[in-house]
Amino acid sequence: MKSVIVIGGGIAGVETANQLSMFGHKVLLLEKDAELGGKINNWHCLFPNLRDASEIKSYINKIADENRFAINRNTEIVKFTKNNQLHPIDQNGDEYEADAVVLATGFKLFRAERKEEYGYNIYKNVITSADLERKFNEKSLDTKNPPRRIAIVHCVGSRDEKSGNHYCSKVCCITGVKQAIELKKTFPDAEIICFYMDLRMHGKGYEELYREAQEKYFVQFIRGRVSEASENIDKSIQIKAEDTLSGKPLKMTVDMMVLLVGMEMEKTSVSLVSGCNVEFGNNRFFNVKDEFTQPNSTLEKNIFVAGACSSPMNISEAILSARSTAVEVNKYLGNMEIKV
Ligand SMILES: Cc1cc2nc3c(=O)[nH]c(=O)nc-3n(C[C@H](O)[C@H](O)[C@H](O)COP(=O)(O)OP(=O)(O)OC[C@H]3O[C@@H](n4cnc5c(N)ncnc54)[C@H](O)[C@@H]3O)c2cc1C
Ligand code: SF4
Repeated sequence: MKSVIVIGGGIAGVETANQLSMFGHKVLLLEKDAELGGKINNWHCLFPNLRDASEIKSYINKIADENRFAINRNTEIVKFTKNNQLHPIDQNGDEYEADAVVLATGFKLFRAERKEEYGYNIYKNVITSADLERKFNEKSLDTKNPPRRIAIVHCVGSRDEKSGNHYCSKVCCITGVKQAIELKKTFPDAEIICFYMDLRMHGKGYEELYREAQEKYFVQFIRGRVSEASENIDKSIQIKAEDTLSGKPLKMTVDMMVLLVGMEMEKTSVSLVSGCNVEFGNNRFFNVKDEFTQPNSTLEKNIFVAGACSSPMNISEAILSARSTAVEVNKYLGNMEIKV
C-alpha cells in the first residue's frame, strides 16, 4: 500500500484525501486548525445559487466521519526534509513520511489595511467582504439603524500595481454580486452600488446572478475606481470616485463600504517548500508542471497541488482540482506518470 500525505484540510484537501483513499491508498490529512473546511467555515451563503455554506461544511464533515483516511488536526506543517522520501515536519518537530505529498494549503485574504486610502480598521463602517460574511453568520448587522446607501468596492488588492498583485482574484466580482443581493434582502430600502473596473462573470450561473441583482434587487453598477474615502462626524463615509463610462468625477456619502479583498498566496506555504523543487508563478501561487496536461504536478516528482494554493478559484473548481489531483497522484503511485 502506498502512502500519501495531504497538507491542508480545506475543501480541496478533504476531497483529495477522500478520492485517494477510495483508490486504496493510505492517506493522512494534516490540518493546522482545529476544524476542517478552511475558508468555507467563514462564509454564509454561496454563489452562484446562494446555497447555505453549512451544506458544504456538512459534506466535509460527513467525509471525515466516514474514517476512510486519518486526520491530524492542529498540525501545521512548516517544512520538509528530503532523503529518499519526503518528510513533512510539523511545528513541534514531528516528522512524517509518505510516498507522495499533496499541497492543499489554500490562500490568504489580502490585508485591506494595505490600501490606506480606504481607511480599513480606522473607519468603523469600512469592512471587508470576509467581515461581511461573518456579520451575516453572526446576524450582527444593525437592522434597527439600516444603512441608506452601501458601496461595494471591487478589486481591492487585485489587478493593482500599488499592492503588487497584477492578477485577478477571479471570485470577488461574483462575491460582490452575492453580497449585494444578501444586503438588499437584509436592508430592502438601501441603495447598493458596486464600483468595478471590469466585471468578470466567467462561471456557470454568474451572469444570471448578476442580471438578477440588477433586475430584481436594483443593485447599481458603476464603472470606476474609488480613489479616496474619509469619515464624516456621523461615521458615514465620504467617497470620491470617477465614473469612467461618463468621464465624470463622483462624490457621495455612504453608510457602509464593503471592500472585496483579493486572494494571496500564504507566506507559510512559500517557506514550507523551500529546499524542494517547487516553483511559483508570477502571482506567487504554486506553479504547476504543465498548465494543460499536468495542472496538479510540480517539478518535484512526488509533490502535487490541489485547490486555491495554485491559483484563485471557487469551490466547485477546488473540488474538480482535488479530484484531478487524486487521479494524477494515483498514476504516479502506480508508476504511470504521464510523459509529455
Ligand atoms: C470573501 C470570499 C467569499 C467566497 N465565497 C465563495 C462562494 O460563495 N462560492 C464559492 O464557490 N467560492 C467562494 N469563495 C472561494 C472559496 O473560499 C475557495 O474556493 C475555497 O476556500 C478554496 O478551498 P481550498 O481548500 O483550496 O483553500 P482554503 O479554504 O484556504 O483551505 C486551505 C486549508 O489549508 C490549511 N493549511 C494551510 N497551510 C497549512 C499548513 N502549512 N499545514 C496544515 N494546514 C494548512 C488551512 O488552515 C485551511 O484549512 C470565496 C472567497 C472569498 C475570499
Ligand atoms: S474578480 Fe472582479 S473584483 Fe476580483 S480581481 Fe477580478 S475583476 Fe477585480
